[in-house]
Amino acid sequence: MSGSGFRCLGCGKLVRRRASDFPFCGERCRLLDLANWASERYAISSSLPSSEVGLSDEE
Ligand SMILES: [Zn+2]
Repeated sequence: MSGSGFRCLGCGKLVRRRASDFPFCGERCRLLDLANWASERYAISSSLPSSEVGLSDEE
């Protein structure tokens, strides 16, 4: 383990550990990953069981 290089979680480019946007190569990849994470979360919440939707439907 030399620890000289780390791959950006967004694009796989080599990124320095001391980079301000570590573990990403830059703000672009950091925001992109954040957006992916948010959309994944949205996909999960939108697939809730229909029973939960029925609660608000009775009002
Ligand atoms: Zn990147």
